[in-house]
Amino acid sequence: MKKRLFLVLCLCLPFLHGFVTPPKKSNWGFFAHQRINRLAVFTLPPEMITFYKNFIVYLTENAINPDARRYAVKGEAPRHFIDVDVYDHMYNDSAVYKMPRRWKDAVAKHTEDTLQAYGIVPWHVYVMKRRLTRAFKNRDAANILRLSAEIGHYIADSNVPLHTTENYNGQLTNQRGIHGFWESRLPELFSDDYNFFIGKAKYIKNTQQAAWQAVINAHEALDSVLKFERILTQKFSADKKYTIEERSGVNVRTYSKQFSAAFHNMLSGQVERRMRASIKMVGDFWFTCWVDGGQPDLTKLLDKKYLEQENKRIEEERRKWREQQQDKKIKTRPHEMAFGRKVMQMPHGRCCHAYTRYYAYLRKKMQDSNKKAKR
Ligand SMILES: [Zn+2]
Repeated sequence: MKKRLFLVLCLCLPFLHGFVTPPKKSNWGFFAHQRINRLAVFTLPPEMITFYKNFIVYLTENAINPDARRYAVKGEAPRHFIDVDVYDHMYNDSAVYKMPRRWKDAVAKHTEDTLQAYGIVPWHVYVMKRRLTRAFKNRDAANILRLSAEIGHYIADSNVPLHTTENYNGQLTNQRGIHGFWESRLPELFSDDYNFFIGKAKYIKNTQQAAWQAVINAHEALDSVLKFERILTQKFSADKKYTIEERSGVNVRTYSKQFSAAFHNMLSGQVERRMRASIKMVGDFWFTCWVDGGQPDLTKLLDKKYLEQENKRIEEERRKWREQQQDKKIKTRPHEMAFGRKVMQMPHGRCCHAYTRYYAYLRKKMQDSNKKAKR
């Protein structure tokens, strides 16, 4: 019986991503991350787009790698968020406007332990920018691919309102589940109708400032996210707010379409704006790194052998994650354990078949969605 229960849990947990136990600060849902990286390719200038289109499947599928390893690799988890409001009491304003932008200054003021404990996403975006620039300078195709996919992930995370607060899942305001609701459920339901004509990538003079501006914009949207969900919850009875949906043969309790639509309408395009901002910023950063890296001729790097190298590296990396997870070397904060660890452990832990099913679901969803999308 126990074994059976484990199997059921095993199959169900990844599907509960957006509801019962959403991962702690997971990020945009996998679906949105993949879409953001994919669409960023189309913002690039002719000198870059051939290379990026050539590897668009890699850039799309590996947009989720940083999340896949966050419970296996030490120091990974804080790179995805910043609980900027925990510092508010130290400033006479919202800390998001006042915190030191330079890492060294921030460490001097708050200590590295504190920064790591409450998240470092804007600083990490800047670190990734420097790494990607170096990869362009070195004409290192495999690293250009890997770092492009990964910086896309962190940039997208920095644009999510619930990645900028200690109340990341509404757990402090009795709105548990709101994280996955906003970043997974809403994009999956409504992003096919978004306008993703973003325009051309532009050079960013100050990437450090740009990384912080994303966090500021996301944080300014946070109040509406929490407030509107609260208002609507008063208008919907529990049986209208939630529903049971079937996903790849598994029944999942989730927010009803009616409640989702009401919330989405009330947000008046907020999710679309944050997604568009993410896509634009990813394109801008890729372009800026290429310019700062000396504008190498990428048409010389189209050989698919780079993909083989990358795939080998990823395979090896995943093997190590599995080992590390099995060793349980990585400690997470107690509340992370409570909200997400089990779910996120599944994909690369014992329950690989559940991950495969979830991934197959995502792949299908993305394919259907791409057909419908404007491009
Ligand atoms: Zn993330």
